[in-house]
Amino acid sequence: MYNNRMLRLEKSYTLDEKIKTMSTKEYYEKYVDFSETSESCKICDMYNNNWSCPPFENDVMNSWQKYENIDLILTRLHFNEFITENIYEKEEIDTILHLTLFNEKKKLLQRIRKKISLDENFPKDTMILSTGYCNICPTCSKQEGRPCRYPKNKLHSIESIGGLVTKTTYEEFDTEIQWIDMEKGVIPEYLTLLMGVLY
Ligand code: SF4
Repeated sequence: MYNNRMLRLEKSYTLDEKIKTMSTKEYYEKYVDFSETSESCKICDMYNNNWSCPPFENDVMNSWQKYENIDLILTRLHFNEFITENIYEKEEIDTILHLTLFNEKKKLLQRIRKKISLDENFPKDTMILSTGYCNICPTCSKQEGRPCRYPKNKLHSIESIGGLVTKTTYEEFDTEIQWIDMEKGVIPEYLTLLMGVLY
């Protein structure tokens, strides 16, 4: 149930955003290493359990050759003391992430889709690269052995198709990724979303 604490959590951060455009060829040469990212993916529960995650049945890696440019969108959520000065149980961290990071991810995706559809000058043949696994459906149909329900809306993350996110944010945006310390229950000063649009 929604309460005052949740309302306060939702107001407990500020945002900054940076956007950079580069050729897909340059991005691919500097930051794509599928063998490295797929090894990291193997330790995630979604590996082979979500159509947006490896191993892939079609050659989604061709996307790096299909599109000419990539817009990289880096968003940081800077948390205030209300968040950073406490210790949390895992369930509380999940709640905070839903009210902050995942909420901003959803809003950013809506904004990107709106720009693509309304901006006459923006190419219409695009591929949005999100963060994390595709969560359009409550449970991905891959776990039921069925085809993707919304193949046109399915969202791959940059890392799922080989993009080295930590290297990208560091070298292109001078930003180090910070992580939640799940063992200690500590949320860092900021969390980062890196999304992309191939076009
Ligand atoms: S749209 Fe649904 S079925 Fe398709 S990848 Fe996303 S969560 Fe899975």
